[in-house]
Amino acid sequence: MDLAQIRKNTERLLKEIPEGVIVVAAAKSRTPQEVLAAIEGGIGIVGHNYVKEAERHREILKDVEMHMIGHLQTNKARKAAKLFGVIQTLDSIRLAQELERIGQKEGITISVLVEVNSAREPQKSGVLPEDLKAFLERLSPFQHLLVRGLMTMGPLTGDPEEMRPYFRLTKELFDELQGINSPNVRMEILSMGMSDSYTVAIEEGANMVRIGTKIFGPRY
Ligand SMILES: *Cc1c(COP(=O)(O)O)cnc(C)c1O
Repeated sequence: MDLAQIRKNTERLLKEIPEGVIVVAAAKSRTPQEVLAAIEGGIGIVGHNYVKEAERHREILKDVEMHMIGHLQTNKARKAAKLFGVIQTLDSIRLAQELERIGQKEGITISVLVEVNSAREPQKSGVLPEDLKAFLERLSPFQHLLVRGLMTMGPLTGDPEEMRPYFRLTKELFDELQGINSPNVRMEILSMGMSDSYTVAIEEGANMVRIGTKIFGPRY
């Protein structure tokens, strides 16, 4: 898309987003130049679905904050730990163990969100709502992991109203877990909502939204 248009889209979007809500630009399949236009429009965090694409972008985007928003395979965890300020898609103990091992070795703390499979869809990754508390408890010995909140996709339907109950459920979990007594859990970030659903997600309490199409135009 036209770079000036991307910048304009971004400025318009950021104007309508309430204070306290952070917009992550979802950059999959976009060029680094397109992402730079969004950064010029005011975006501070870029979300990536693929480690390879993020690596390519990193050289051009320099020190902008990047988040991993796609599924992360354990064999890419090391690269991811270096590229991303936050890995939003922690969805298994196995991945947590790998990140902890890397954090220990590198002497760094790795920030993550736990991905919640809020609609309990069998084909989707993420921790089931009823397993979330036990999942976090199993992470508590991991001194190089910092859980900073929750992320959910919700079901992919054409109608954002159908996603509302799942956003609401995730917010309830987020609130409940504020009281968890775990040294490496700090429930600060609630990442939910995309181009067609961010308004509903914000109404239900999201303080981070991940937007692609509305900034960059349709994907081809
Ligand atoms: C692509 C993507 C988004 C943004 O989707 P749009 O509908 O283009 O806004 C948000 N979150 C994740 C995890 C994505 O993969």
